[in-house]
Amino acid sequence: MKKLLVIGITLVLISCSGTEQTNVEDSGCFSTGSKTYKWTMVTTWPKNFPGLGMGPENFSKYVDEMTCGRMQIKVYGAGEFVPALGVFDAVSQGNVQLGHGASYYWTGKVKSSQFFTAVPFGLTAQEMNGWLHYGGGMELWEEAYAPFNLIPLAGGNSGVQMAGWFKKEINSLDDLKGLKMRIPGLAGEVFTRAGAETVTLPGNEIFLSLQQGVVDAAEWVGPYNDLTFGFHQVSDYYYYPGWHEPGSTLEIIINKEAYETLPDDLKAIIKYAAKSANQEMLDEYTARNNKALTELIEKHNVDLRKLPDSVLIELKKITNEVMEDFIEDDPMAQKVYKSYNEFKEQVINYHRISEKAYIDTRELD
Ligand code: CA
Repeated sequence: MKKLLVIGITLVLISCSGTEQTNVEDSGCFSTGSKTYKWTMVTTWPKNFPGLGMGPENFSKYVDEMTCGRMQIKVYGAGEFVPALGVFDAVSQGNVQLGHGASYYWTGKVKSSQFFTAVPFGLTAQEMNGWLHYGGGMELWEEAYAPFNLIPLAGGNSGVQMAGWFKKEINSLDDLKGLKMRIPGLAGEVFTRAGAETVTLPGNEIFLSLQQGVVDAAEWVGPYNDLTFGFHQVSDYYYYPGWHEPGSTLEIIINKEAYETLPDDLKAIIKYAAKSANQEMLDEYTARNNKALTELIEKHNVDLRKLPDSVLIELKKITNEVMEDFIEDDPMAQKVYKSYNEFKEQVINYHRISEKAYIDTRELD
């Protein structure tokens, strides 16, 4: 028996070292699986769109690199395989394995999904990552998507956005009355209560809608992305701050059955590739937004404006009312809102004396 065991261990050692050597010499890869997985990812963004659209591209690239090509993910832009707002259903129904988008697009199907993208006057990018990965947010997101056969992962973050593009000045809440604006999610409801007419349009429809007067105003992301779409050609005023989207998290969604077919190493690689893509996007925006803003102001004569404090205070009041009504008939949304708010209260407390105090300190003369 002992002898057999020794022979067995020796054979295992020989076969392991043999495999390792072969792969190092052949390709520099240690990955040894024989099966290749070819998956499809549909997205809500135009193909290769700077910033947002690089989330899925980077994710696909990282998975390919980390699996030595054992797993290949083909990324389709909005409308190439399914329409932008068809991503959730396509992945949920298993027509494709993966999707990349923003969870608040699906508020009509899953109310609580709003909290996993952005909440007006809510968490910043840094705080969202803290809540999702160390504050119970991810577990709630998984619970919210489980009935739809979906596994969610954070897959990018815009940082604080801009309040948006307006064709006329906003000096008081009255200026919002009758305004037609592209602004999705809860913020859209806030603007509606302030008297505006709001719509959710995918990014690639915003320019024409502004140009043709279908909308008078639109928010998209921030300078780096907005410059690409050319909104400065069809509206005069560029307002900040992005009270409505202070740190929008994007999502990667995975069809659960497809995920279950993966070996453990590929499951782990998907998780860490998503984490990398999540951080990478924020890094890119951090690096590029100011250059784009400078170009918008200096080259394209964009009129940069801050929303008056009086308007922001009113919007905050309306947001609180909207939140209460929004969660009223949905136990899951109530549960997520509670977790989100508890995290927000404690993180604000510390960030008041750390992030905020430091940024204020840096501005001192
Ligand atoms: Ca936005």
